[in-house]
Amino acid sequence: MGFIFRGLLIIFIFSLIVYLLKAVARLRFHLNGTMRDLRHIRDRIDLPQGGSREAVRCATCGTFLDRREALILRSRGSEQAFCSKECIAG
Ligand SMILES: [Zn+2]
Repeated sequence: MGFIFRGLLIIFIFSLIVYLLKAVARLRFHLNGTMRDLRHIRDRIDLPQGGSREAVRCATCGTFLDRREALILRSRGSEQAFCSKECIAG
């Protein structure tokens, strides 16, 4: 009788561990999705910066254009705006 009880206990503990591992895995999957969503939202908030229109100047040809339409290159804290991919290339 003691042997059967111990066997059942081991099966019970094993299934509990499997269940917990699955729960943790599912939780981490959800957490990753949430983090990804938050990053998306933050990126979207960062871009328009309060919705005010700001003119930037293309670093290559000098054309003024809306910041939201400009291609912004950031490097080491400073940033440069370009009107097109051709201007980025030089
Ligand atoms: Zn340009």
